[in-house]
Amino acid sequence: MHDLLIHSCRTLTFDEDGRPAVLAEQNIIVDGQRISAIQPVSEGPVDAREVVDARGMLATPGFINTHAHAPMVIFRGLAEDVSIERWFNEFMWPLESNLQEEDVYWGMLLALVEMIESGVTTVADHYFFMDQAANAVTEAGTRAALGWAVFGDRGYDALAETADFVARWQGQADGRITTWMAPHAPYTCDDDFLRATVEHAKRLGVGIHIHAAEEMGQTRASLEKRGLTPIQVLEETGVLEVTTLIAHGCGLLPEDIELLARYRDHVGIAHAPKTYLKLGMGLTPILPLRAVGIPVGLATDGAVSNNTLDILESLRLMAMLQKHEARNPEVLTIPEALDMAFHGSAQALGMADRLGKLAPGYLADIILIDQSGTHCQPLHSATASLVYNNRAGDVQTVIVDGNVLMHDRRLLTLDKAEIMANVNRNMDRLSQRVPGRRIQVYNP
Ligand SMILES: [Zn+2]
Repeated sequence: MHDLLIHSCRTLTFDEDGRPAVLAEQNIIVDGQRISAIQPVSEGPVDAREVVDARGMLATPGFINTHAHAPMVIFRGLAEDVSIERWFNEFMWPLESNLQEEDVYWGMLLALVEMIESGVTTVADHYFFMDQAANAVTEAGTRAALGWAVFGDRGYDALAETADFVARWQGQADGRITTWMAPHAPYTCDDDFLRATVEHAKRLGVGIHIHAAEEMGQTRASLEKRGLTPIQVLEETGVLEVTTLIAHGCGLLPEDIELLARYRDHVGIAHAPKTYLKLGMGLTPILPLRAVGIPVGLATDGAVSNNTLDILESLRLMAMLQKHEARNPEVLTIPEALDMAFHGSAQALGMADRLGKLAPGYLADIILIDQSGTHCQPLHSATASLVYNNRAGDVQTVIVDGNVLMHDRRLLTLDKAEIMANVNRNMDRLSQRVPGRRIQVYNP
Protein backbone atom coordinates (compact mmCIF):
# COMPACT_ATOMS: atom_id res chain seq x y z
CA MET A 1 0.00 0.00 0.00
CA HIS A 2 1.53 3.28 -1.14
CA ASP A 3 0.87 6.69 0.43
CA LEU A 4 -0.30 8.59 -2.64
CA LEU A 5 -1.15 7.79 -6.25
CA ILE A 6 -1.48 10.48 -8.88
CA HIS A 7 -3.54 8.52 -11.32
CA SER A 8 -3.31 8.68 -15.08
CA CYS A 9 -1.67 12.01 -15.81
CA ARG A 10 0.48 13.16 -18.66
CA THR A 11 3.95 13.58 -17.18
CA LEU A 12 6.66 16.08 -18.06
CA THR A 13 10.00 14.31 -17.98
CA PHE A 14 13.53 15.26 -18.95
CA ASP A 15 16.08 12.95 -20.55
CA GLU A 16 19.79 12.79 -19.67
CA ASP A 17 20.49 15.85 -21.82
CA GLY A 18 17.69 17.79 -20.19
CA ARG A 19 15.36 17.57 -23.17
CA PRO A 20 11.70 17.51 -22.15
CA ALA A 21 9.14 14.94 -23.20
CA VAL A 22 5.54 14.37 -22.19
CA LEU A 23 4.50 10.80 -21.44
CA ALA A 24 0.81 9.89 -21.67
CA GLU A 25 -1.23 7.97 -19.07
CA GLN A 26 1.26 7.68 -16.25
CA ASN A 27 0.83 6.83 -12.60
CA ILE A 28 3.03 8.75 -10.17
CA ILE A 29 3.50 6.86 -6.93
CA VAL A 30 4.56 8.67 -3.78
CA ASP A 31 5.76 7.21 -0.50
CA GLY A 32 6.52 9.58 2.33
CA GLN A 33 8.10 12.74 1.02
CA ARG A 34 9.42 11.26 -2.20
CA ILE A 35 8.36 9.91 -5.58
CA SER A 36 8.89 6.16 -5.51
CA ALA A 37 7.88 5.29 -9.07
CA ILE A 38 6.45 6.66 -12.30
CA GLN A 39 4.93 4.01 -14.51
CA PRO A 40 2.40 3.64 -17.33
CA VAL A 41 -1.17 3.04 -16.20
CA SER A 42 -1.07 -0.06 -18.43
CA GLU A 43 1.28 -1.71 -15.94
CA GLY A 44 -1.75 -2.35 -13.78
CA PRO A 45 -3.56 -1.01 -10.72
CA VAL A 46 -1.67 0.57 -7.82
CA ASP A 47 -2.87 0.46 -4.22
CA ALA A 48 -2.59 3.74 -2.36
CA ARG A 49 -4.14 5.30 0.70
CA GLU A 50 -4.85 8.52 -1.19
CA VAL A 51 -5.60 8.81 -4.90
CA VAL A 52 -5.62 12.00 -6.95
CA ASP A 53 -7.50 11.55 -10.22
CA ALA A 54 -5.28 13.34 -12.72
CA ARG A 55 -6.85 12.24 -16.00
CA GLY A 56 -6.31 14.91 -18.63
CA MET A 57 -3.84 16.83 -16.47
CA LEU A 58 -0.18 17.55 -17.14
CA ALA A 59 2.01 16.74 -14.13
CA THR A 60 5.15 18.82 -13.79
CA PRO A 61 7.59 19.44 -10.96
CA GLY A 62 6.42 22.27 -8.71
CA PHE A 63 7.79 25.62 -9.81
CA ILE A 64 10.69 27.11 -7.88
CA ASN A 65 10.71 30.86 -7.34
CA THR A 66 14.42 31.59 -6.87
CA HIS A 67 14.15 35.15 -5.59
CA ALA A 68 11.29 36.90 -3.88
CA HIS A 69 10.42 39.20 -1.03
CA ALA A 70 7.10 37.46 -0.65
CA PRO A 71 5.64 39.44 2.28
CA MET A 72 6.00 42.60 0.15
CA VAL A 73 2.63 41.68 -1.36
CA ILE A 74 1.23 43.94 1.38
CA PHE A 75 2.69 46.95 -0.50
CA ARG A 76 1.47 45.80 -3.93
CA GLY A 77 0.73 48.73 -6.23
CA LEU A 78 2.27 51.43 -4.03
CA ALA A 79 5.38 52.18 -6.15
CA GLU A 80 4.47 52.50 -9.82
CA ASP A 81 6.10 54.28 -12.76
CA VAL A 82 9.23 55.36 -10.87
CA SER A 83 12.98 54.96 -11.37
CA ILE A 84 14.86 52.34 -9.36
CA GLU A 85 16.36 55.14 -7.22
CA ARG A 86 12.90 56.61 -6.45
CA TRP A 87 11.47 53.10 -6.04
CA PHE A 88 13.86 52.50 -3.14
CA ASN A 89 14.25 55.96 -1.62
CA GLU A 90 10.76 57.41 -2.00
CA PHE A 91 8.68 54.29 -1.76
CA MET A 92 9.99 50.91 -0.61
CA TRP A 93 12.35 51.92 2.13
CA PRO A 94 10.00 54.50 3.67
CA LEU A 95 7.11 52.01 3.44
CA GLU A 96 9.16 49.25 5.03
CA SER A 97 9.77 51.43 8.08
CA ASN A 98 6.10 50.66 8.89
CA LEU A 99 6.70 46.92 9.07
CA GLN A 100 5.81 45.00 12.18
CA GLU A 101 6.31 41.31 12.75
CA GLU A 102 2.69 40.36 12.22
CA ASP A 103 2.66 42.15 8.85
CA VAL A 104 5.29 39.71 7.61
CA TYR A 105 3.25 36.77 8.86
CA TRP A 106 0.02 37.78 7.09
CA GLY A 107 1.88 39.06 4.02
CA MET A 108 3.78 35.79 3.73
CA LEU A 109 0.56 33.81 4.02
CA LEU A 110 -1.09 35.88 1.29
CA ALA A 111 1.96 35.41 -0.91
CA LEU A 112 1.96 31.67 -0.24
CA VAL A 113 -1.69 31.45 -1.29
CA GLU A 114 -0.85 33.27 -4.50
CA MET A 115 2.18 31.05 -5.10
CA ILE A 116 0.31 27.81 -4.41
CA GLU A 117 -2.44 28.97 -6.76
CA SER A 118 0.16 29.52 -9.48
CA GLY A 119 2.06 26.27 -8.91
CA VAL A 120 5.06 27.50 -6.91
CA THR A 121 6.09 24.91 -4.37
CA THR A 122 9.47 26.39 -3.31
CA VAL A 123 10.46 30.00 -2.81
CA ALA A 124 13.85 31.47 -1.97
CA ASP A 125 12.79 34.44 0.09
CA HIS A 126 14.77 37.42 1.32
CA TYR A 127 13.02 39.64 3.85
CA PHE A 128 12.67 40.82 7.45
CA PHE A 129 11.11 39.26 10.59
CA MET A 130 11.69 35.88 8.98
CA ASP A 131 10.53 33.82 11.94
CA GLN A 132 7.07 34.92 10.90
CA ALA A 133 7.72 33.92 7.30
CA ALA A 134 8.92 30.53 8.52
CA ASN A 135 5.77 30.12 10.65
CA ALA A 136 3.67 30.88 7.58
CA VAL A 137 5.57 28.35 5.45
CA THR A 138 5.16 25.75 8.17
CA GLU A 139 1.38 26.27 8.13
CA ALA A 140 1.09 26.43 4.35
CA GLY A 141 3.00 23.19 3.82
CA THR A 142 5.21 24.59 1.06
CA ARG A 143 8.99 24.49 0.78
CA ALA A 144 11.16 27.58 1.29
CA ALA A 145 14.76 28.71 1.41
CA LEU A 146 14.60 31.66 3.79
CA GLY A 147 17.07 34.41 4.55
CA TRP A 148 16.71 37.32 6.99
CA ALA A 149 17.79 40.39 5.00
CA VAL A 150 20.26 42.69 6.70
CA PHE A 151 22.06 45.95 5.87
CA GLY A 152 25.64 46.61 6.94
CA ASP A 153 24.74 49.75 8.90
CA ARG A 154 22.64 47.61 11.28
CA GLY A 155 25.88 46.29 12.71
CA TYR A 156 27.34 42.93 13.69
CA ASP A 157 24.78 42.17 16.39
CA ALA A 158 22.00 42.41 13.81
CA LEU A 159 24.02 40.16 11.52
CA ALA A 160 24.40 37.66 14.35
CA GLU A 161 20.63 37.72 14.88
CA THR A 162 20.10 36.76 11.24
CA ALA A 163 22.57 33.92 11.80
CA ASP A 164 20.54 32.84 14.83
CA PHE A 165 17.48 32.69 12.58
CA VAL A 166 19.45 30.45 10.21
CA ALA A 167 20.37 28.08 13.03
CA ARG A 168 16.85 28.12 14.51
CA TRP A 169 15.04 27.17 11.30
CA GLN A 170 17.49 25.13 9.22
CA GLY A 171 15.79 21.82 8.40
CA GLN A 172 12.57 22.68 10.25
CA ALA A 173 9.03 21.87 9.05
CA ASP A 174 10.04 18.26 8.25
CA GLY A 175 13.00 19.57 6.27
CA ARG A 176 10.88 21.84 4.08
CA ILE A 177 12.60 24.94 5.40
CA THR A 178 16.23 25.61 4.58
CA THR A 179 17.95 28.83 5.49
CA TRP A 180 20.53 31.21 4.09
CA MET A 181 22.47 34.21 5.25
CA ALA A 182 20.98 37.20 3.43
CA PRO A 183 23.08 40.38 3.37
CA HIS A 184 21.21 42.88 1.21
CA ALA A 185 23.84 43.83 -1.40
CA PRO A 186 27.49 44.87 -1.78
CA TYR A 187 26.36 48.52 -1.99
CA THR A 188 24.59 48.33 1.40
CA CYS A 189 27.07 46.01 3.17
CA ASP A 190 30.76 46.89 3.35
CA ASP A 191 33.53 44.37 2.79
CA ASP A 192 34.12 43.55 6.44
CA PHE A 193 30.42 42.98 6.94
CA LEU A 194 30.37 40.62 3.96
CA ARG A 195 33.44 38.79 5.35
CA ALA A 196 31.67 38.39 8.69
CA THR A 197 28.63 37.05 6.83
CA VAL A 198 30.82 34.45 5.11
CA GLU A 199 32.16 33.37 8.50
CA HIS A 200 28.62 32.81 9.78
CA ALA A 201 27.67 30.93 6.60
CA LYS A 202 30.68 28.64 6.87
CA ARG A 203 30.11 28.02 10.57
CA LEU A 204 26.45 27.16 9.95
CA GLY A 205 27.02 25.25 6.72
CA VAL A 206 24.59 27.37 4.70
CA GLY A 207 24.71 29.58 1.62
CA ILE A 208 24.42 33.31 1.00
CA HIS A 209 21.51 34.87 -0.89
CA ILE A 210 22.39 38.41 -1.98
CA HIS A 211 21.55 41.08 -4.55
CA ALA A 212 24.50 41.99 -6.76
CA ALA A 213 25.08 43.80 -10.04
CA GLU A 214 21.33 44.36 -10.15
CA GLU A 215 21.74 46.79 -13.07
CA MET A 216 24.63 48.29 -15.01
CA GLY A 217 24.52 51.61 -13.10
CA GLN A 218 25.49 49.75 -9.92
CA THR A 219 28.39 48.07 -11.68
CA ARG A 220 29.61 51.39 -13.07
CA ALA A 221 29.29 53.07 -9.66
CA SER A 222 31.23 50.24 -7.99
CA LEU A 223 33.97 50.46 -10.62
CA GLU A 224 34.22 54.24 -10.15
CA LYS A 225 34.24 54.13 -6.35
CA ARG A 226 36.63 51.24 -5.86
CA GLY A 227 37.77 49.79 -9.15
CA LEU A 228 35.94 46.51 -8.61
CA THR A 229 32.65 45.23 -10.00
CA PRO A 230 30.07 44.01 -7.48
CA ILE A 231 30.88 40.44 -8.52
CA GLN A 232 34.60 41.05 -7.92
CA VAL A 233 33.64 42.35 -4.47
CA LEU A 234 31.81 39.07 -3.80
CA GLU A 235 34.95 37.16 -4.76
CA GLU A 236 37.28 39.45 -2.81
CA THR A 237 35.23 39.12 0.38
CA GLY A 238 34.94 35.32 0.15
CA VAL A 239 31.20 35.25 -0.53
CA LEU A 240 31.71 33.05 -3.59
CA GLU A 241 33.46 30.42 -1.46
CA VAL A 242 30.08 29.27 -0.12
CA THR A 243 26.88 28.39 -2.00
CA THR A 244 25.75 31.74 -3.37
CA LEU A 245 22.47 32.80 -4.91
CA ILE A 246 22.85 36.14 -6.70
CA ALA A 247 19.71 38.09 -7.42
CA HIS A 248 19.47 39.71 -10.83
CA GLY A 249 22.92 40.22 -12.35
CA CYS A 250 21.56 42.56 -15.03
CA GLY A 251 24.78 44.52 -14.61
CA LEU A 252 27.17 41.64 -15.26
CA LEU A 253 30.18 42.37 -17.46
CA PRO A 254 31.82 39.66 -19.61
CA GLU A 255 34.69 39.48 -17.08
CA ASP A 256 32.16 38.87 -14.29
CA ILE A 257 30.75 35.92 -16.19
CA GLU A 258 34.27 34.56 -16.67
CA LEU A 259 34.88 34.95 -12.94
CA LEU A 260 31.57 33.34 -11.95
CA ALA A 261 32.25 30.37 -14.23
CA ARG A 262 35.00 29.30 -11.83
CA TYR A 263 32.38 28.96 -9.08
CA ARG A 264 29.57 27.49 -11.20
CA ASP A 265 29.23 24.31 -9.17
CA HIS A 266 27.88 26.29 -6.22
CA VAL A 267 26.86 29.74 -7.51
CA GLY A 268 23.58 30.54 -9.27
CA ILE A 269 21.73 33.57 -10.58
CA ALA A 270 18.06 34.40 -10.01
CA HIS A 271 16.36 36.04 -12.99
CA ALA A 272 13.17 38.09 -12.44
CA PRO A 273 12.26 39.53 -15.84
CA LYS A 274 9.13 41.50 -14.97
CA THR A 275 10.99 43.62 -12.42
CA TYR A 276 13.60 44.43 -15.06
CA LEU A 277 10.95 45.52 -17.52
CA LYS A 278 9.08 47.67 -15.04
CA LEU A 279 12.16 49.33 -13.59
CA GLY A 280 14.02 49.56 -16.92
CA MET A 281 17.00 47.63 -15.56
CA GLY A 282 18.24 45.74 -18.60
CA LEU A 283 18.41 41.95 -18.56
CA THR A 284 20.44 39.19 -16.97
CA PRO A 285 22.77 37.90 -19.72
CA ILE A 286 21.23 34.44 -19.56
CA LEU A 287 22.71 33.05 -22.77
CA PRO A 288 26.38 33.76 -21.95
CA LEU A 289 25.85 32.59 -18.35
CA ARG A 290 24.35 29.29 -19.46
CA ALA A 291 26.99 28.89 -22.15
CA VAL A 292 29.63 28.59 -19.44
CA GLY A 293 27.46 26.40 -17.20
CA ILE A 294 26.36 28.93 -14.57
CA PRO A 295 22.86 27.99 -13.38
CA VAL A 296 20.18 30.60 -13.90
CA GLY A 297 16.85 30.17 -12.12
CA LEU A 298 13.47 31.75 -12.60
CA ALA A 299 12.07 34.29 -10.16
CA THR A 300 9.28 36.77 -9.65
CA ASP A 301 11.03 39.12 -7.20
CA GLY A 302 8.67 40.96 -4.84
CA ALA A 303 5.20 42.09 -5.79
CA VAL A 304 6.04 45.79 -5.60
CA SER A 305 8.25 45.52 -8.68
CA ASN A 306 6.41 42.60 -10.32
CA ASN A 307 2.86 43.21 -9.05
CA THR A 308 2.14 39.47 -9.00
CA LEU A 309 3.96 36.30 -8.01
CA ASP A 310 2.83 34.58 -11.21
CA ILE A 311 5.77 32.37 -12.14
CA LEU A 312 4.25 31.32 -15.48
CA GLU A 313 4.25 34.96 -16.52
CA SER A 314 7.92 35.19 -15.53
CA LEU A 315 8.68 32.05 -17.53
CA ARG A 316 7.04 33.47 -20.64
CA LEU A 317 8.72 36.87 -20.27
CA MET A 318 12.11 35.26 -19.67
CA ALA A 319 11.98 33.32 -22.92
CA MET A 320 10.57 36.13 -25.05
CA LEU A 321 12.92 38.81 -23.71
CA GLN A 322 16.02 36.78 -24.51
CA LYS A 323 14.75 36.31 -28.07
CA HIS A 324 14.05 40.01 -28.35
CA GLU A 325 17.35 41.05 -26.80
CA ALA A 326 19.25 38.79 -29.21
CA ARG A 327 16.98 39.78 -32.11
CA ASN A 328 16.88 36.05 -32.69
CA PRO A 329 13.73 33.96 -32.11
CA GLU A 330 15.77 30.75 -32.22
CA VAL A 331 17.45 31.33 -28.85
CA LEU A 332 16.02 30.35 -25.44
CA THR A 333 13.94 27.56 -26.91
CA ILE A 334 11.07 25.86 -25.12
CA PRO A 335 13.30 22.98 -23.93
CA GLU A 336 15.78 25.51 -22.57
CA ALA A 337 13.07 27.59 -20.89
CA LEU A 338 11.71 24.49 -19.17
CA ASP A 339 15.20 23.35 -18.21
CA MET A 340 15.73 26.73 -16.55
CA ALA A 341 12.33 26.80 -14.86
CA PHE A 342 12.83 23.41 -13.23
CA HIS A 343 16.39 22.05 -13.21
CA GLY A 344 18.13 25.45 -13.48
CA SER A 345 16.11 26.86 -10.60
CA ALA A 346 16.80 23.81 -8.45
CA GLN A 347 20.50 24.09 -9.29
CA ALA A 348 20.54 27.80 -8.41
CA LEU A 349 19.29 26.81 -4.95
CA GLY A 350 21.79 23.97 -4.67
CA MET A 351 18.91 21.46 -4.57
CA ALA A 352 19.12 19.82 -8.00
CA ASP A 353 19.64 16.39 -6.45
CA ARG A 354 16.11 16.43 -5.04
CA LEU A 355 14.02 19.10 -6.78
CA GLY A 356 13.13 20.20 -10.30
CA LYS A 357 12.40 16.80 -11.78
CA LEU A 358 9.71 14.13 -11.65
CA ALA A 359 11.71 10.98 -11.05
CA PRO A 360 11.99 8.23 -8.44
CA GLY A 361 13.92 9.47 -5.41
CA TYR A 362 13.06 13.13 -5.98
CA LEU A 363 10.92 15.03 -3.49
CA ALA A 364 7.22 14.76 -4.26
CA ASP A 365 6.66 18.42 -5.17
CA ILE A 366 4.25 17.98 -8.04
CA ILE A 367 1.67 20.19 -9.72
CA LEU A 368 -1.16 19.29 -12.08
CA ILE A 369 -1.91 21.73 -14.87
CA ASP A 370 -5.08 21.82 -16.95
CA GLN A 371 -4.43 22.23 -20.67
CA SER A 372 -8.02 21.79 -21.79
CA GLY A 373 -8.88 25.50 -21.85
CA THR A 374 -9.64 27.28 -25.13
CA HIS A 375 -6.34 29.16 -24.84
CA CYS A 376 -4.49 25.81 -25.03
CA GLN A 377 -6.61 23.94 -27.57
CA PRO A 378 -5.98 22.15 -29.79
CA LEU A 379 -3.00 20.88 -27.88
CA HIS A 380 -0.37 20.21 -30.52
CA SER A 381 2.47 20.81 -28.06
CA ALA A 382 2.06 20.44 -24.33
CA THR A 383 5.47 21.99 -23.73
CA ALA A 384 4.76 25.02 -25.94
CA SER A 385 1.49 25.44 -24.11
CA LEU A 386 3.23 25.26 -20.75
CA VAL A 387 5.65 28.05 -21.66
CA TYR A 388 3.42 30.29 -23.79
CA ASN A 389 -0.27 29.52 -23.17
CA ASN A 390 -0.93 28.25 -19.67
CA ARG A 391 -2.04 30.69 -16.99
CA ALA A 392 -1.63 30.60 -13.25
CA GLY A 393 -5.32 29.74 -12.97
CA ASP A 394 -4.74 26.54 -14.94
CA VAL A 395 -2.79 25.05 -12.02
CA GLN A 396 -5.37 22.73 -10.50
CA THR A 397 -3.58 20.67 -7.87
CA VAL A 398 -0.41 21.26 -5.86
CA ILE A 399 1.47 18.64 -3.87
CA VAL A 400 4.51 19.33 -1.68
CA ASP A 401 6.48 16.66 0.17
CA GLY A 402 3.76 14.19 -0.75
CA ASN A 403 1.01 16.31 0.84
CA VAL A 404 -1.82 17.78 -1.21
CA LEU A 405 -1.97 21.55 -0.54
CA MET A 406 -4.48 22.46 -3.24
CA HIS A 407 -6.90 20.08 -4.94
CA ASP A 408 -8.94 21.21 -7.95
CA ARG A 409 -8.20 24.85 -6.98
CA ARG A 410 -9.41 24.29 -3.40
CA LEU A 411 -6.81 25.27 -0.80
CA LEU A 412 -6.45 22.63 1.89
CA THR A 413 -4.00 24.23 4.31
CA LEU A 414 -4.78 27.96 4.26
CA ASP A 415 -7.90 30.07 4.80
CA LYS A 416 -7.79 32.67 2.06
CA ALA A 417 -10.64 34.86 3.38
CA GLU A 418 -9.10 35.07 6.84
CA ILE A 419 -5.69 35.92 5.40
CA MET A 420 -7.00 38.67 3.15
CA ALA A 421 -9.04 40.17 5.98
CA ASN A 422 -5.95 40.31 8.18
CA VAL A 423 -3.80 41.83 5.44
CA ASN A 424 -6.36 44.53 4.68
CA ARG A 425 -6.92 45.37 8.34
CA ASN A 426 -3.59 47.24 8.56
CA MET A 427 -3.48 48.92 5.16
CA ASP A 428 -3.73 52.51 6.46
CA ARG A 429 -0.77 52.06 8.76
CA LEU A 430 1.25 50.18 6.15
CA SER A 431 0.71 52.54 3.23
CA GLN A 432 1.82 55.75 4.99
CA ARG A 433 5.11 57.35 4.03
CA VAL A 434 6.45 59.57 6.79
CA PRO A 435 8.90 62.20 5.44
CA GLY A 436 12.45 61.44 6.54
CA ARG A 437 11.64 57.97 7.80
CA ARG A 438 13.11 55.11 5.82
CA ILE A 439 15.06 51.94 6.57
CA GLN A 440 17.91 52.58 4.12
CA VAL A 441 19.15 54.95 1.39
CA TYR A 442 19.78 53.83 -2.17
CA ASN A 443 23.11 55.30 -3.28
CA PRO A 444 25.09 52.54 -4.97
ZN1 LIG B 1 15.35 41.36 -4.38
